[in-house]
Amino acid sequence: MILVTGGAGYIGSHVNKELHKEGYDTVVLDNLSYGYEDAIKWGEFVKCDLADTEKVESIFNKYDIEGVMHFAGFISVGESVKFPAKYYKNNYKNTLSLLKVMKNNSINKFIFSSTAAVYGNPYQVPITENHKLNPINPYGKSKLMVELALERESKLGSPEFKYSALRYFNASGADIEGEIGERHNPETHLIPLILDVATEKRDNISIFGDDYDTHDGTCIRDYIHVADLAQAHIKAFEYLDSEKYSIDGENIFNLGNGNGFSVKEVVDICEKVTGIEIKKEILGRRDGDPPILIADSMRAKNTLNWNPQCTDLEKIVESAWNWHKKQN
Ligand code: UDP
Repeated sequence: MILVTGGAGYIGSHVNKELHKEGYDTVVLDNLSYGYEDAIKWGEFVKCDLADTEKVESIFNKYDIEGVMHFAGFISVGESVKFPAKYYKNNYKNTLSLLKVMKNNSINKFIFSSTAAVYGNPYQVPITENHKLNPINPYGKSKLMVELALERESKLGSPEFKYSALRYFNASGADIEGEIGERHNPETHLIPLILDVATEKRDNISIFGDDYDTHDGTCIRDYIHVADLAQAHIKAFEYLDSEKYSIDGENIFNLGNGNGFSVKEVVDICEKVTGIEIKKEILGRRDGDPPILIADSMRAKNTLNWNPQCTDLEKIVESAWNWHKKQN
């Protein structure tokens, strides 16, 4: 059985679904602070906060857990700049206590939800995993601190401990079968916010800065379909048992499509998919935003045999829209 922390959240719930499709059993741990119970349609569910070590311990006692996929964490760049301690406590400290419980129970397989935010302002794109790590916001810093703790544990702690850190670029889209999708409260992510304008839940989309050094002045991101991310987790988990597994950097993977879209281009694609004109307003830059993030994911493709299926942003937005319009 695999323990999926944060399995009621956006990426965790999609991975939970994919795990079941591939024949794995799961137990989902989530405190439901941001997740949705109705997104847990597969496996067992235990409502639990990672800070409650005794309860976490009891999950390991009750279920036959072979490894952990760790999604529980806060994810908003802007909020992390305003409330950094919240990010260090939840994303870093709580992960350390989860690792301690794993160690007490001799569970040695760990997949970590990391982020492209660990790179900061890249000096070179596409970004490879060897790019300098220089996060410019507490969210990225908190994720990098976990990566470093994992590296320390695998090199200096238990020799049996195996992990992979997956650095997501911009997770987007929804389950192709429409069972689950992207929902955050409050919503801070670009595509669902634009779709909220299309469903008239919001009046307009705020564009955070049009004075970046990019072709149209708005930030460029690499959008990757959530089901493709989910596939990568399963491949990374299986990789932990393969003979190819190596901790010398070869267990850290960028996950993106290698295509950059500006905020304005994303708005245009959403207009095309929905057939609805999206009202925009230009605001100032959001603190902590790098101008451009585009992945080089060759390592995941070569080492994990990862083969993303839904790489066209229009198709990604279509899947998001199919789900989104049913929510209102
Ligand atoms: N963005 C924006 N308006 C919004 C939300 C996001 O202009 O209301 C921009 C944001 O500044 C970034 C991009 O859209 O350049 C993607 O932001 P998101 O929060 O979706 O993901 P992030 O890149 O922060 O992980």
